[in-house]
This record gives sequence, C-alpha cells and structure tokens, in this order.
Amino acid sequence: MNKAALITGLTGQDGSYLAELLISKGYQVFGLVRRTSTSSLERIKHLSGKVKIISGDLLDQSSLMDVIAEAQPDEIYNLASQSYVPLSWTQPALTAEYTALGVSRLLESIRRCKSDARLYQASSSEVFGQPDSSPQTELTAFRPRNPYGVAKAYAHWMTVNYRQHYNLYACCGITYTHESPRRGTEFVFRKITNTAAQIKLGLATELKLGNLDAKRDWCYAEDAVYAMWLMLQQNNPDDYVIASGETHSVKELVKCAFEYLGLDWQNHVSVDPEFYRPNENIQLVGCVDKINTQLDWKPQYSFEELVKLMVDYDLKRLKDSGTLPIPC
Ligand code: GDP
Repeated sequence: MNKAALITGLTGQDGSYLAELLISKGYQVFGLVRRTSTSSLERIKHLSGKVKIISGDLLDQSSLMDVIAEAQPDEIYNLASQSYVPLSWTQPALTAEYTALGVSRLLESIRRCKSDARLYQASSSEVFGQPDSSPQTELTAFRPRNPYGVAKAYAHWMTVNYRQHYNLYACCGITYTHESPRRGTEFVFRKITNTAAQIKLGLATELKLGNLDAKRDWCYAEDAVYAMWLMLQQNNPDDYVIASGETHSVKELVKCAFEYLGLDWQNHVSVDPEFYRPNENIQLVGCVDKINTQLDWKPQYSFEELVKLMVDYDLKRLKDSGTLPIPC
C-alpha cells in the first residue's frame, strides 16, 4: 500500500518541493493549511488535485489530533513556522507560539494519535547563533541570537526528548539557508537574482543591500528536501546537519549573478543601512560529514549552478510576464 505523508507548511518553498518529491514516489500527500492562512497557494497550484489540503493550526492541539486521525500519516514533515528572522524580533511571542510550542502540540498529537508515525522536524542553523566553532556539527552547542533561533532550539530539543522518552521515530534536520525560484524576494539570494534580472531587462537600475560581507551556507531547496525524506527512511531516527558545507559572501553572490548577466555590479549595487541586521552572525557553515557518511547525501547543485538557475528563472519569468518597457 502507498504511504501517506502529512506536510505542515505545504505552501512554503520546502513544502511545495517536498510534496512534488513525495508524489513522484507514490505517496498520498496531505497538507496542513491554516484556514486563515494568508500565504499564497501559488507555489502549489500545479499540485492541485494531487495533494489533499486539510485545515488545522499549530496553535490548536485538537485540530492537530483531528488531522492526524484523518490522514493516518506514515510520515509527518513539520516545515511550518514563522521563518523570517527580522519579523521574529517584532513578533517574538507569535514566533514562539508557532515555531516552538507548535512543535510540542504536534509531538503530543503524534504520541496520542499515531505513535508509529515518523516525524521530520525542521531545525535551523539559527539555533547555533554565535557558534563556538566552525563548521558546525550535530554536536555544536546552541547559542541562538534571535527569537526565531530560540524557538527553533526549543523545538529541536523537544523533538529529541520525545524520541528518547517516548521512543518516537522523530528526527531534526538542521538546515542552513536553502534557496530556489520559489523563495520570496525578502531573502537576499532571490532579491539579488530578481533585481539583477530586472536591471538586465531595463526594469530597474539599482540594488540596495545590507552587509555585503555577510556569509551564508547556501544550498538548493530540492537538494534539502531530498535529505529530509532520506532521514525518515532509515532504520533508526537521528539528527543531521543539511548544508552545502561551503560559505559564500553576499558580495560573491552579487558578483556571480551580475557577471553571469554581463553586468558590472559596482555600477548598480549600493549599501543601505536599512538592510543591516542587529546581532548578525556571519560564521554559519554546516559540517556535512555525518549526513554524507551515514545517508550518502550531498547537494547536487553547486553555488554557481544555483545562482545561474535562479537568474535564468527570474529572467524568463520577467520576459514572460510582458512587463518589459517598449523599446524606442
Ligand atoms: P537568512 O538570514 O539566512 O534567513 O537569509 P537572508 O537571505 O534574509 O539573509 C542572508 C544574509 O544576507 C544575512 O546575513 C543578511 O544580513 C545579508 N543581507 C545583506 N543584504 C541584505 C538584504 O538586502 N536583504 C536581506 N534579506 N539580507 C541581506
């Protein structure tokens, strides 16, 4: 019989890619969506009829229990959260409700309603905050530096505790930044590829950024969701860092995108203090030895390939949208 999977955060970047992967593997896919959700269904409109949307909310324990009872999932992927770090400073309590306590409610619902279901919990490199060492491993101490990271650290340890105490098959994947054409333009990678494509097409002239020296470990979202699936197919549950294992600066990203388009980035990019982050951490890079050795996983796309893929996508999308200026 085909497996059933429940995805929270179905309408997000990772949720949509994961749903595609699971459908291709023959799963029956259920997506938990908040009835009041304002998030766009844009990313999953091509999956309509292929996933069953069930309404429920991480803020509401009984709705989660009903959803699990209805879907009877073999696997649950908890990808839902308030994931934009700057917003976690302006809405710290709501961030904690979804990102931290939401996981307690989900774990408790699994324990009560379907304790043999396997759980993937989306942990984040933000749990490391200001890390002691680089690259970070599964054993690096958590020192989160923003409310989102604090909430994710709580969720991580609750998942580990439910695994140890109740013997649930529950795993945390500590993902670093991962990108795709489905990423929002508030994130720097997509902001750069989108604006560079706009500049190339004469739709914009400048790109305002924050800290150009900030570094990130970026990988492709499709690579990351494959790792999530792989983690639930093992004999024993465990936690893994999911990353590229390399860092690149915002400046390198800008150069790569603009050069690919035949543009000189220095003619277009300016630094605007509005986009600087307080408590910025620039040391995050994941050690992928464990996932590489134990699950034989490594990213299929390099940094340069990812930049090109996203620039190509944004160029095509802008050309197809028909908003180009009419040449004189
Ligand atoms: P996240 O912080 O990993 O969730 O991802 P972002 O894409 O929002 O930010 C990645 C890095 O880019 C951070 O270190 C930011 O400080 C830096 N950055 C520099 N300029 C910008 C900008 O204009 N927008 C954003 N979002 N980040 C910027």
